[in-house]
Amino acid sequence: MLTNFIAVQHLHEENFKLSQSSCDKDVILNILSVLTDLLSLGTGRRIHYVVSKGGSEALLQALATAARTEPPDHGTLLPLLRLLARVGQRDRKFGLKVQKAEATDIILSLARRHLGHHLHLTHCLWVLRVCASNVTTGAMLGINGAMELLFKVITPYSKRHVRTVRAAIGALAALLKSKSNSRRAVNRGYLGELLRLYQDWHRNDVSNNYIYIRRGLLLCLKYITNIQLGRETFLGSRGMEILFTSVQDCLSCKNLDPIITTATHILRKCYPKEHLPVVTVRSSYSFPLPGNANAEPLCEGSEGDSESEGEEETEKDWDNEDVESKEEDCDLETDVNKLRSRPVLDRPEQELEKYEALCAELSQNFQELEFESEEKKSLEDRTENLPSAPSHFIPSATSVKYPNCRWRNQSVTEMGPDPGEQDFKVPFQSWRKKEECIWDKNDEKRDIAEEAQNKDFCEEEDPSRSHVSAFCPLPKDAAWYKKMFYPHCEASINASPEGRLESSDIVRNLLEKHHIPFHSPCFYAARAKCVKSIPGYRELAFPDFWGHQPPPSSKPVLERKHGVQRDRVLDDVRRLIQPGDVIGRTVFDLDDPSSGSSPAAPGCLTFFSKFESGNLRKAIQVREFEYDLMMNADVNSSQHHQWFYFEVRDMKSAVPYRFNIINCEKFNSQFNYGMQLVMYSVREALQGRPRWIRAGQDICYYKNHYRCSAAAGGGVRGRFYYTLTFSIKFPHKDDVCYLAYHYPYTYSTMMSHLDILEQNRNPKKVYWRQQTLCQTLGGNPCPLLTITAMPESENRHDLEQFCSRPYVFLTARVHPGESNSSWVMKGTLEFLVSSDPIAELLRKCFIFKIVPMLNPDGVINGNLRCSLSGDDLNRQWLTPSSQLHPTIYHAKGLLYYLRSIGRAPLVFCDYHGHSQKKNVFLYGCSIKETLWQAGCMVDTAVVTEDVGYRTLPKILDKVAPAFVMNSCSFLVEKSRASTARVVVWKEMGVLRSYTMESTYCSCSHGLYRGLQLGTQELEEMGSKFCLGLLILHLKSLPCSKELMAQAALLLDLEEEITDRAQRISVFLIPDCPPTWEICWQWQKLISCPHLCCSCATLRQVVCSHPPSIFQDCLWILALTRDLKSFLSF
Ligand SMILES: [Zn+2]
Repeated sequence: MLTNFIAVQHLHEENFKLSQSSCDKDVILNILSVLTDLLSLGTGRRIHYVVSKGGSEALLQALATAARTEPPDHGTLLPLLRLLARVGQRDRKFGLKVQKAEATDIILSLARRHLGHHLHLTHCLWVLRVCASNVTTGAMLGINGAMELLFKVITPYSKRHVRTVRAAIGALAALLKSKSNSRRAVNRGYLGELLRLYQDWHRNDVSNNYIYIRRGLLLCLKYITNIQLGRETFLGSRGMEILFTSVQDCLSCKNLDPIITTATHILRKCYPKEHLPVVTVRSSYSFPLPGNANAEPLCEGSEGDSESEGEEETEKDWDNEDVESKEEDCDLETDVNKLRSRPVLDRPEQELEKYEALCAELSQNFQELEFESEEKKSLEDRTENLPSAPSHFIPSATSVKYPNCRWRNQSVTEMGPDPGEQDFKVPFQSWRKKEECIWDKNDEKRDIAEEAQNKDFCEEEDPSRSHVSAFCPLPKDAAWYKKMFYPHCEASINASPEGRLESSDIVRNLLEKHHIPFHSPCFYAARAKCVKSIPGYRELAFPDFWGHQPPPSSKPVLERKHGVQRDRVLDDVRRLIQPGDVIGRTVFDLDDPSSGSSPAAPGCLTFFSKFESGNLRKAIQVREFEYDLMMNADVNSSQHHQWFYFEVRDMKSAVPYRFNIINCEKFNSQFNYGMQLVMYSVREALQGRPRWIRAGQDICYYKNHYRCSAAAGGGVRGRFYYTLTFSIKFPHKDDVCYLAYHYPYTYSTMMSHLDILEQNRNPKKVYWRQQTLCQTLGGNPCPLLTITAMPESENRHDLEQFCSRPYVFLTARVHPGESNSSWVMKGTLEFLVSSDPIAELLRKCFIFKIVPMLNPDGVINGNLRCSLSGDDLNRQWLTPSSQLHPTIYHAKGLLYYLRSIGRAPLVFCDYHGHSQKKNVFLYGCSIKETLWQAGCMVDTAVVTEDVGYRTLPKILDKVAPAFVMNSCSFLVEKSRASTARVVVWKEMGVLRSYTMESTYCSCSHGLYRGLQLGTQELEEMGSKFCLGLLILHLKSLPCSKELMAQAALLLDLEEEITDRAQRISVFLIPDCPPTWEICWQWQKLISCPHLCCSCATLRQVVCSHPPSIFQDCLWILALTRDLKSFLSF
């Protein structure tokens, strides 16, 4: 306090004295020395104080005075300059103040006069540097010859007067931040000079004593290359080679990190920009749309226009989430009227009547249909002439002796003719998917006949193969499954009867032993046969066919190695500098089927992805163990790359292969925060470990040198591309592996899952109805499910109860790349039809309307975001087109219908995946929260709002380990006005209308903190969502006595509860007291009004709530076993 006070006093005094400008020298010197002492101590607060009191102006004025005296008074000048440098650094407006005081010339001429006097010169340079921090002042200094002056100081290379050189380089770097200075510097040839100088320092500074000078020079280069001219000159001056070579010398030394990082940054920025190595960035697949609708304008434009990316190339760091949140704020809807208005119907009212057929449960005549027989059931709902009628379609266990599905057999036409395979062209074609969907015994015969012609061509390599029993465990090489799945490869070998029997036996054998809950390879293959895809898929990906069983434990997020991104970028630059080992061979190309047709070069991987959800477009072998990969754009689009799914084979084991996916688009990715991709090994699967696992090392995600011009991209602006890079060591030699962005979940997976659920449900208890909401553009049925409990009995009361259950409307997978949402939905569905007592109770509470996949075509064709129309379907809810967006049009129609009969759903939730965030969370809609967040005045008297939208997420936060309330948001953004959540909230008046977002990566809180989510955790989220709905129901609605009694009864079955608690982990708190005991204590509580102190809080709750709520409390309490968290509800 005291020192501050003194400082102020002195400052004022000084101001006064300086303004007299005739004061005696000793006084000024004294003041300067006191100020110097004061400001050299303590924190920046003192300097800020001085600045706020006009210190900078006073010092500048003093400088002008001192400089005017002849000869210059160095005794005053030096401390003055020191103070100015110090204060100027902290004064944001210093540059402006310098201009105002017209001090630029003074400083420059002072510096010029002292060129021969290094101590004085250094002081001038310090001030020059702070002056240049303001771009305008910097430009002015540049015009007045500051750079020429500085160059005189820093060249030629010399270790004399290092301090001065350092100050000069610092000032030069500051000046080069101005574009006009950079341009001037390039034109005067300074860039080459800087490079040479940097080389000299690098070469001579063997013991790394002058890192700051070397880094300073790099900073000069970094700023100068911010302009296009700078980058071009840099390339022309062999800048890439020079920096790259120098960095190689630095890599082994850890304290050279600042140099390596800056040099890498420059290298990355200056790497010559290119277009992606594809003919066009538009999708390889196009789909003719009904009517004259055009998805995206088809303008290729002239390639090579890179000016659209602008002069300046600023590299933002990848973790700037602030920017995002600020943008979000501007996006908020602040018009109260818009928030409150309910738009008119988007279609004629009479059109809604047709949706009555999709709500048969409301007019169900149970007297006739009572506990329907399966035969009856199969007759109804199947009138749409779909190829999916289960009674005809699903192969029964007895009819399937031999699966006629083929996963991934290379077709002759696809891979180009191979002379050795000619003979097999005809029989092979018979394997292709035919239009018919009925399980065809002829196929089986044909296959067996075909097998007869195939003989194991690797028999010599594996003598054990003649014994069927020897196939489990697998032989060491790939021979046998090559034979099984690639019979055409064995063309050169004559048929033998043993071979045939053997193969079919192996498959049968394997299938018999193979069991994954809720999955059947036969069902999958049967469903996949009927799928209509644009490329006309004939192959199945093995993982989808064979199934996935989650690994026993989840994997922690990957720890990021130091400098991994830097190393990868340098490796990319090496292609340019040392192209000796660059192969550059296209090994897979969707656009050119002839590529990769010849047998793969030895040591080269084979790629494939022409199967459901696959989307590899091109693979280029860069170096022996490195591949550049490109994903296909969404159909009828030229963008949306993030999702990937492909097959790779012919690998060596124990060698790290590097893969670069070079056409990613998002500016950042969870791959930079420990997320791994997933891998499935066929060998592992056949050895009893059929699973996707998190895989990949050295993962990072960064902006690369590929660009897309505005014209080619069909957008307004040009685009940047990003590289996702990872290394994989495959577990086995010559394995067949699949790599994907996230756990794949195809349309056929979903359809066969529904088949299995329907078969496995208890028809006496579970009301299950699968209808077709509509056909998609691509001609695939979009299923709609109705799930509830069968009525208790035929009596009127029970039937009424059945019909009056509130609706819950759930949808998922509108965005095809968000396969996590399908796994969550899988969990929801399995729980809903299960015999779990909670599920039974839940079914009695609600009628569930579920559209498990809103965008089947997108999923099938490997899209990331859009449907076949090239539209993001979750931006079409305001005015969906019946032609272009049928699934949205009809889902909305059904919701309209429910609203029109007064049965709008209690809860609507659309399941999604979020690629940038962690945790599982909900987006909801609240007028008040939106207005508050936007900083609007809210008249609470006018805007009334039920806060019920918060209850469900709060409950989920308690019951679902992956769910985090803090990640939820209830803001209504303008850009989201046409999403399901906002439209259903506004137009259907559904208070609890949500988007549920699930991370691809991990959780930041709770039980799964730091663990990468697997399918098990995602499925669990789906079941917990159901539990949340039940608690919501018991909490917020008047419940019948029977229901409460049932709930109580449920809890009474203590053993079963404990069991269930373990199974679905209702709310796991170790060592908590038995459930019923708490309830019992609570009961005692009501009857006894005189309670001890510790129970005061409980009493408060009991006394302030009506008995019905208390009953709910009791139930929840028992269910969640967590008194404390319940009270904070
Ligand atoms: Zn989404």
